[in-house]
Amino acid sequence: NRYSKEDILRMAEEEDVEFVRLQFPDIFGVLKNMAITASQLEKALNNECSFDGVSINGYGELSKTDLFLSPDLNTFEIFPWRPQQGKVARLICNVYNADGTPYAADTRMVLKRVVEKARKMGYVFKVEPECEFFLFHIDDGGMPTTVTHEHAGYFDVGPVDFAENVRRDIVLNLEEMGFEVKSSHHEKAPGQHEVDFKYSDVLNTADNLLTFKMTVKSIAKRHGLHATFMPKPKSDVDGSGMHINMSLWDEKGNDVFYDEDDAYKISGTARCFMAGILRHIGAITALTNPLVNSYKRLTPGFEAPVYATWSAETTFALLRVPSVIGTHAKLELRSPDPTANPYLAFAACLAAGLQGIEEKLELAPSVDTNVSAWTDEERRNLDIERLPKNMCDAINALEDDKFIVEVIGEAVAGQYIRAKRQEWNTYRRQVTEWEIKEYLNRY
Ligand code: GLU
Ligand code: MG
Ligand code: MG
Repeated sequence: NRYSKEDILRMAEEEDVEFVRLQFPDIFGVLKNMAITASQLEKALNNECSFDGVSINGYGELSKTDLFLSPDLNTFEIFPWRPQQGKVARLICNVYNADGTPYAADTRMVLKRVVEKARKMGYVFKVEPECEFFLFHIDDGGMPTTVTHEHAGYFDVGPVDFAENVRRDIVLNLEEMGFEVKSSHHEKAPGQHEVDFKYSDVLNTADNLLTFKMTVKSIAKRHGLHATFMPKPKSDVDGSGMHINMSLWDEKGNDVFYDEDDAYKISGTARCFMAGILRHIGAITALTNPLVNSYKRLTPGFEAPVYATWSAETTFALLRVPSVIGTHAKLELRSPDPTANPYLAFAACLAAGLQGIEEKLELAPSVDTNVSAWTDEERRNLDIERLPKNMCDAINALEDDKFIVEVIGEAVAGQYIRAKRQEWNTYRRQVTEWEIKEYLNRY
């Protein structure tokens, strides 16, 4: 452990921390928190802080009584953008029932269970996300819009890129919180950006993602802009993805996806891992792409994947093998978007990959072209599966995949599926602007 209880109490005192936010994800990965003052910190560190979970999304149906927060001491961090006197710090927590058993809808615990399984097999799973987002104007009433005045594109520089200073601020704040930021750049669409931070153990990366999104939103707001991680805010330009670069290591710190003698420098283990992910991709997609809107990103004509293929040669593939640097090999899954609950998404990917290794699953041949351009028949001939077309198909795939349901737990799966069905039914009866424009006049 990075810190002991005493370390945290001492740091809070020395740094003049006044508020501590006890944070945890709801079932959809949305960050929730309860603030306490420094006077309550010791109590919190003894897991004595409780809350009423009934109104937390996805929690209510599973709890009738109070829930308890158990802070993960490794996650103590001070928010650099908050006041420097009477500072604000955070601790990410696991959630427990009053009787001390883990709370069924705590998705952080779901990931911890799979991490433990990997550890028993001798593996450490690391993930590096590439999280994209848009910066939009806020209207006079303070509400976010989808308006941007800049016309910059991929890798552009100022003055066309208006957001240089926003990204600079985001990066500096992240670094102050201990992130190793690898790079940041303007993405393809006007107003779209990406900030990448270095891989870490999967639990740490999932925690970091919650912090990352909160930081990006807070800093953007300071610049008078709205940051959104919505997957496809504009129909005609690229959406925002969150590619995840996965690597598996043994206890001695060797990258077990690497093989010097292979044409692509990836091992048999890496191939089995990919086969495991491809086997469960339907259900995984329900978790990596959770919104109705997510599926508007996964359409042909943009840089997001549509078919379940792998390749080391083309970026159109769902799973890409990036060029290997040194002895570090990784697999890039390109379908996830930043609205995924990272704990559930990573748990599902890791568990599916481990199953691929355990069962020595055979990987289909790579497909090195853009199969979106092929005919249905050509794709059928090669048995190429499509990712779920919409949220409804994805949820059905999740419900049918007993393995993934078991990985995330029946309780979480049940809540998730129920809530998503409701979301789908509400969506289905919406009459959109597009329909009015197309039909009202003509018929
Ligand atoms: N924005 C693209 C997506 O929807 C990804 C672009 C990239 O390769 O960085 O996934
Ligand atoms: Mg990108
Ligand atoms: Mg990428």
